Amino acid sequence: MKFGQDFKETLATQDFPSHWVEHAIPYGQLKKCLKKVLKELKDLGLDHDTLQSLIDPENHSPVALKYRLIASENSDIVRPTLTVDVYLEDDVIVEASLTPASRLFFEKIASEVRHGHQADSGNTSGNSSDAGQDDDVSSQDQDSEHHHKKNRRHETIELPLVFDHEFFEMLQNDVSSIDSLQDTERKQMSDEIKALGEDLAQITKPRKVHRTDMIPWRNIFELYLDAEVFFATHEQEHGARSSQLALKKLQWFQGEVKKRELQRIFKIPQSQVAYDRFLRINANLLKMLQFQEINQLAVHKILKKFDKRTSFGISKSFRSAIQSHQFMTGAIGRDVCAQMSQHLTNVVPQLNDYLCPICFMVAYRPVKLDCSHIFCLRCIIKIQRARESHCPLCRSDVVMKATIMNLDDDLAKYMKKHFPTEVSDKERHNQIERGLEDYGPGYKHQECSVM
Ligand SMILES: [Zn+2]
Ligand SMILES: [Zn+2]
Repeated sequence: MKFGQDFKETLATQDFPSHWVEHAIPYGQLKKCLKKVLKELKDLGLDHDTLQSLIDPENHSPVALKYRLIASENSDIVRPTLTVDVYLEDDVIVEASLTPASRLFFEKIASEVRHGHQADSGNTSGNSSDAGQDDDVSSQDQDSEHHHKKNRRHETIELPLVFDHEFFEMLQNDVSSIDSLQDTERKQMSDEIKALGEDLAQITKPRKVHRTDMIPWRNIFELYLDAEVFFATHEQEHGARSSQLALKKLQWFQGEVKKRELQRIFKIPQSQVAYDRFLRINANLLKMLQFQEINQLAVHKILKKFDKRTSFGISKSFRSAIQSHQFMTGAIGRDVCAQMSQHLTNVVPQLNDYLCPICFMVAYRPVKLDCSHIFCLRCIIKIQRARESHCPLCRSDVVMKATIMNLDDDLAKYMKKHFPTEVSDKERHNQIERGLEDYGPGYKHQECSVM
């Protein structure tokens, strides 16, 4: 299926909100405009083959075309310009590869340049290049075979095209329009995320077990972080995911939540509502990424077509010249995910962030070394006894300097509040360990002892 049709069908069948579809890249219109560009070029004698032979950067012919996008100073719109370098020998263009029509055209503009008429002939503006003249003079001097001195000149002329301006203006306006749509959507998602974050803070506040949903939400977010729905952090597939893969990851996450019956252990009715809101924000972002992806593809396709038909080779420079802070850079995914981690997943602390790097249990009675690394008190005592003076993480010489002053009481309170089960497990573990140290292998921990 042709891309144009495919694009249209995707826009119609993917359940995008209708106000999004209005912002979609008008691929068909751009294609029509491209036809006008081609006709305009043809009328100038620049058919496909002529263009291809003249635009070749390796081409040392007396006529060379250059197509560029020039940023204008006072607007975001970049302006396309087609310039031609014409080398005139005794005021005549000698170029065998030109078609009769393009030869006629170039001779006409060359004569305009010669007689200084180009300045008032509308869009055609010419300027002679001094550098080019110098080059030619020196090459002449070296060329001893020339018996009579030919008068060689080099002129750069901008060709008066209309429809390529129309094409790029349309494309840039469409890109800006998607940018502003994404701005609005991003703000809306950001507001929803913040509001949900505030509600979650209430629902998951550390309280007596039956009055908080801290644990199920911790498990939900642990799964969500594991899924890395929109971005991968491990090396192999680092970076933003395709919307197709993001959809799979999101489905996996929802499946796991269901399988582990995490929703069923909610004790607070608002939790279910909050979970639905969380899923909706994710679905919305996913939809926006799908929309962004197919529109990026439409831009890519139409520029490729433009290049193929004109040989102007502009698609790469368009990407760097275009002013697009959202759509072309894909910033919305990054921004919304950063918001979710700041206002949602970080609201419920994860155990992983509070583990002692030596014993891999909660770093209860946390000791903060002078290098800022945190360990549990028991592990620090053990490495001090072993006269190991360097921090196991950064190798700073700080371990022997640690005293009672390095105990972080605020963090200890925080851990006890947010990880009550893990903290009491850790305390019990320490008691057993100390008992074994004091009384030897015969030690039996009180609560384990059988009378
Ligand atoms: Zn430890
Ligand atoms: Zn350290």
